[in-house]
Amino acid sequence: MSELVIELPGFAGTIFRPGDPDYDEARTVFNAMVDRRPALIARCTCTADVSAAVRFARANNLEISVYGGGHSVTGAAVVDGGMCVDLRGLKTIAIDAQKRVARAGGGMTWGEFDAATQEHGLAVTGGRVPSTGIGGLALGSGSGWLERALGFTCDNLLEAEIVTATGDVVTASAADNPDLFWAIRGGGGNFGIVTHFTLRLHPVGPLLWGGMLIFPGPRGAEVLKAYRDFVAKAPDEVGSGLAFLTAPPEEFVPEPARGHPCIGVICAYLGDPADGPAAYAPLLELAPAVAMVDVMPYVVIQSLIAPGNPKGRFNYWTADFYDDLSDEAVDVLAGIAGQPSSPFNQIIVVPGGGAIARIDDEATAFGSRQAAFNIHYLGMWEGQADSQRHIDYIKHLAGAMKPWSTGAVYLNFLGDEGPSRVEAGFGPAKFARMQQIKAQWDPENVFHINQNIPPAPSVPPQR
Ligand SMILES: Cc1cc2nc3c(=O)[nH]c(=O)nc-3n(C[C@H](O)[C@H](O)[C@H](O)COP(=O)(O)OP(=O)(O)OC[C@H]3O[C@@H](n4cnc5c(N)ncnc54)[C@H](O)[C@@H]3O)c2cc1C
Repeated sequence: MSELVIELPGFAGTIFRPGDPDYDEARTVFNAMVDRRPALIARCTCTADVSAAVRFARANNLEISVYGGGHSVTGAAVVDGGMCVDLRGLKTIAIDAQKRVARAGGGMTWGEFDAATQEHGLAVTGGRVPSTGIGGLALGSGSGWLERALGFTCDNLLEAEIVTATGDVVTASAADNPDLFWAIRGGGGNFGIVTHFTLRLHPVGPLLWGGMLIFPGPRGAEVLKAYRDFVAKAPDEVGSGLAFLTAPPEEFVPEPARGHPCIGVICAYLGDPADGPAAYAPLLELAPAVAMVDVMPYVVIQSLIAPGNPKGRFNYWTADFYDDLSDEAVDVLAGIAGQPSSPFNQIIVVPGGGAIARIDDEATAFGSRQAAFNIHYLGMWEGQADSQRHIDYIKHLAGAMKPWSTGAVYLNFLGDEGPSRVEAGFGPAKFARMQQIKAQWDPENVFHINQNIPPAPSVPPQR
């Protein structure tokens, strides 16, 4: 690609090419399994840059990837030999504290977004690790600790500014292009590049009661059964998640437990902090080995699992939704997850219910709103040599749980498992509707480096 003449009319950002000093840094993504070399990385600083980059890529027959926060486990942010439209220069945020609305650049991370909105005591459901991009997460619906009270991130999306496959700029909202607005709330980056997200905010903290409980690994089945029963009756303000982990070698972990399998439960209480201990009493009464819970800033709660999720480890992920977790299912899960292939694995059980389940399943592209649990099978390890063993372990664990899964899957937690899994993520009716909308906005499937929804063949293009 070195003979490519680089003239991007209207582009004021920065271009990185192979050989440039910052090229390798710019092409690196979260998952070390991914090592791709784009011909061009176009770091955009404004909407016009994104339009110019898309037009240039199309004129030069370059495949397009979009880099938000680079957290997609499939490495969708980068494409070999193509154009990476890098949004990491799009980080402006305007907050109207009175109206409780934020308009945020499509390349912000959740850490940046939370820090800005918390200055006003406001927030929206956001990613559980601060380095995750708001873009990929929100477009895949957006699951976070506050979702049972506030809905998914996409349930709080009021408007999106979008650069389409032709490089044009359009608005999607309930009033403007409502079909497109429906599709981007769960349908990922299939329909265009979102340069600005306008999100509804809510009063959150800045101080919440929350933290982490740790139980010894051998208590896995007992603790998960108690947790399952607890979340079934818990009020919306009770945010939480349970994970099968390995206890880190940290001072707060009792010496004998360090390096051994454990169960971690994150607590994030959106009610009055003084009521936190009572709200989580059934979990506290289980006598955890570590109860690192207190009143703390929301941004600290948002960072609790960050140390276990550094960029640069090898990752293999899959996921499934469940309508219920029977005792038998819990025993199977705890039996296998309690013997991890890697000390960095995280088998995360996210409860549904609350606000996400009260929104009509048809209201957004994302469905599965009635599912009781979303389990994220996250395999993570260091050193590539042993990759297949870890991948096989995660496949074995998720496979053992298939008899209880609904068949649907949360695309933000899914690796590269082919078109049928993407369709299963939506179900056939929604998938067909998305294909129609894709055909209107991106009939040539320009945006296909993603969990792809191919365009329906027969729809006359609108743009
Ligand atoms: C450590 C970690 C923690 C996570 N925690 C959560 C969590 O709590 N909740 C949750 O729901 N998910 C979570 N995820 C999954 C995450 O939501 C997805 O990986 C998501 O795709 C990441 O978005 P990104 O912008 O960082 O990724 P990228 O890899 O940059 O992009 C992913 C996809 O989104 C598209 N995209 C990104 N930004 C835009 C944009 N502005 N316009 C159009 N398309 C865009 C890209 O083209 C690509 O297809 C986590 C992932 C990691 C690695």
